[in-house]
Amino acid sequence: MKNNRYFLLVTGILMILNFSQHIAGQWQGMPQELFTRAEKTWFKETSMNKDVKTFCEKVAELSRYAHTEVFGRTKEGNDLFMVVLANPKVASPAEAAATGKPVIYIQANIHAGEVEGKEASMQLMREICFGPKTPLIDNQILIFCPNFNPDGNDKLSTTSRPSQDGSPALTGVRASGEGYDLNREGIKAEAVETKAFLKNIILKWDPALLIDLHTDNGSWHGYALNYAPAYLTAGSSVVYNFVIDSLLPAVRTSVLERSGIPVFSFGYMSQRPGDQTTFSTYSHLPRYIVNYMGLRNRMAILSETFSHDRFEKRVLSNYLFLVSVLEYTNLNHGKIAEMVKKADEETIRLIREQGGKISKGVTYKITSAPDPIPLLTRETEEYTDENGRTRRRPTGRLLWIDDVKHYNHFVPVTEAVVPWAYLFPAELESVAAKLKEHGIEVKVTDKRYSVTAEQFMISKYTRDSRAAYGGHYAVKVEGHYVSKKIIVDIGSFYVDMRQPLAWLAFYMLEPESDDGFLFWNYFDEYLIARGAGNSSISSLPYPVIKVLKPLKGKEKT
Ligand SMILES: [Zn+2]
Repeated sequence: MKNNRYFLLVTGILMILNFSQHIAGQWQGMPQELFTRAEKTWFKETSMNKDVKTFCEKVAELSRYAHTEVFGRTKEGNDLFMVVLANPKVASPAEAAATGKPVIYIQANIHAGEVEGKEASMQLMREICFGPKTPLIDNQILIFCPNFNPDGNDKLSTTSRPSQDGSPALTGVRASGEGYDLNREGIKAEAVETKAFLKNIILKWDPALLIDLHTDNGSWHGYALNYAPAYLTAGSSVVYNFVIDSLLPAVRTSVLERSGIPVFSFGYMSQRPGDQTTFSTYSHLPRYIVNYMGLRNRMAILSETFSHDRFEKRVLSNYLFLVSVLEYTNLNHGKIAEMVKKADEETIRLIREQGGKISKGVTYKITSAPDPIPLLTRETEEYTDENGRTRRRPTGRLLWIDDVKHYNHFVPVTEAVVPWAYLFPAELESVAAKLKEHGIEVKVTDKRYSVTAEQFMISKYTRDSRAAYGGHYAVKVEGHYVSKKIIVDIGSFYVDMRQPLAWLAFYMLEPESDDGFLFWNYFDEYLIARGAGNSSISSLPYPVIKVLKPLKGKEKT
């Protein structure tokens, strides 16, 4: 540990001294059009929509590896650009699939005040196409979306990101043009950007790994960047274990060794006098796009650069992190492609062999790792601000704290049986449409069935009176499943769980799910019409029933 600390200090100083030369050195021998606004202004400004557009168009024009596409249009009429880098170049999902190489999707600027991912992605694209990083596309296909929230990007403000300490002075805003927080859209997928992402990136290109680039909100840990996997809930533990046990530790070491920059798991630090210091991650909920990917049996990484670092340092940290991740995935391309394929096959096999017998969590709680960790932090001191209040500020010294409790994973609180199939009435067409939008296969029954099914009886229905996340009123229910004979009409919707997206369907359709369709109001109209929320109704059937055995042979004439 001591050597490691010394190494950090020395390389950190050298890195900062050499940083301006490093950036200047990048200018040699590359197309001038592909230098970013951030670089050209010595990191005083971040790229505007027109800069990103020019970059994406130019890189495709100039490079034999790049293919650029507009994959959607925002409410305010801005194009969403994606750039596909491959060697040899590919211009369609079919061409990509034919190579057998895994697709890695890198998305930046989802919160348009958190701008360094946008700059780092463009720098990296340029250096893959024209510089020393071309080997990163030897074995994998990279898709970059450097500006996922263009409607937020150009609404320049000095106040949208206070913890970034005015570096750069002006950045865009968090919300999309429709007012959505685009990183709460994993389940409801209402924003035009999210719909375009699902339709034209996820369902067409099927990335094995998604990397989502953010800036944190500034707790005084000592890292330049923090990362998180797609937290494991109902999804595949195979891909989760690979990311947390192999990929992320290797990337952490790689970034440190190449630059001296310390990176670590994402968390918020809490230090209360007399208590053990804790470092706790954010959430398992699939409304967050990274966690959502886990329910699709895919890998994902959240990247959060340290907001109090200067803009140029944040761009550099982000760049180095991306390079390290992509070196690792390039090296392990075969394993990654095989693993996601296997996760899909395992899902189908598990339902076929154990559907109706196994349970998975529908609500979760955070829990700590068994052993305490040493955590790099920034020493802080008390001071009195201009209003006479006592506050804390960093002294500029880094400090290791040993024996920190690390809350870094989630365990189920409430579980539900994973069925063979879900069935629901024809009138819930909006539910079927939403499932299909995510790529879940939904069939329609062509016979009338008499089935023994599990139906959830709602004994308590609570709907928040305050709206959140784009006009939603969080719904929670209590109740229990009962087994009963039910006649299923012709034309009912039918979700056979023997499909790769079974875990996503499960999380969306289970009534007690902490981030399911019921929570997001998709059943309000149906249930309220039948008395939900009315205190005189003590038991209300939830309309999605589940069957624990195959449907065949049960036709009712
Ligand atoms: Zn963010």
